Amino acid sequence: MSDFIKKKKYGQNFLTSDRIPARIAAESGITSECGVIEIGPGLGVLTKQLLSVAKKVVAIEIDEELIPILNEKFAQHDNFLLINKDILEIDLGKLIEEQFPGMPVCVCANLPYYITTPILMKLLEGKHGFRTITVMVQKEVAQRLCSKCGDSEYGAITASVNYYASVKRLFPVKAGSFSPPPKVDSAVIRFDLFDTPPVTPADENTFFAVIRAAFAQRRKTLLNALHTAFGDRLTREQIAQIIEDAGLKADVRGEKTDNKTLCFISDKIFFNINGGKQK
Ligand code: SAM
Repeated sequence: MSDFIKKKKYGQNFLTSDRIPARIAAESGITSECGVIEIGPGLGVLTKQLLSVAKKVVAIEIDEELIPILNEKFAQHDNFLLINKDILEIDLGKLIEEQFPGMPVCVCANLPYYITTPILMKLLEGKHGFRTITVMVQKEVAQRLCSKCGDSEYGAITASVNYYASVKRLFPVKAGSFSPPPKVDSAVIRFDLFDTPPVTPADENTFFAVIRAAFAQRRKTLLNALHTAFGDRLTREQIAQIIEDAGLKADVRGEKTDNKTLCFISDKIFFNINGGKQK
């Protein structure tokens, strides 16, 4: 396979100076007691900075050609472990138990953009107790993830992510900071994971189904959206009553509804479907 195709395939855009990786490490909340999982170390520019702030770094790189380069570069570090695997295939629970016993664990990465959402959802849904997740993402993705309910960029992914963490945009990064430069600008964002989530739905599956429904078709009213999703189990009148009980107008649109209200609605739906029984 030519280098060109390979680079495209793995989303390989490498940071060219130490300045940005140093800033990422400095603003990641990682301290000398922390274990760090780095996704996609590439040529190791961020790895180098992470090793200077963390107790231990485990880096997961899919590209086998980078493995000897990285192992040679960090041969002097006995607090560095490199795993040649696809991050999406890794059992993170097992890795954390084996590599970071008793340590606070953070994730830090300049992400391969082609799998940004699956990686973020794997990190968040796994509920691994990460202290922070600091990642470089495409600028537009950063805007969406950091948007507030009611903003035009706010969507199902924002609402889902907000269930697990507060998200903050740290700083922008121009395409020219990478080699080869990507077609898009980037930004570094940081997730601070909640110890206690701000909403606690009776049933998470129903809650996420409500989120998906609410944002699926932006032009639809919440009533129509929920009827499409739950109409096989609830009547239109039952759904209308739930929306009224939530203190919303009958013609409200899902995209304007915050997680607290979506949680209220999801619990009502769950208990209506399950005959009012607590789970
Ligand atoms: N950290 C380096 C930097 O900042 O210069 C490289 C970042 S580059 C945007 C993304 C890296 O993720 C590449 O090294 C690529 O090979 C790696 N990668 C792509 N897909 C991956 C996957 N599924 N699992 C693990 N690493 C992956």
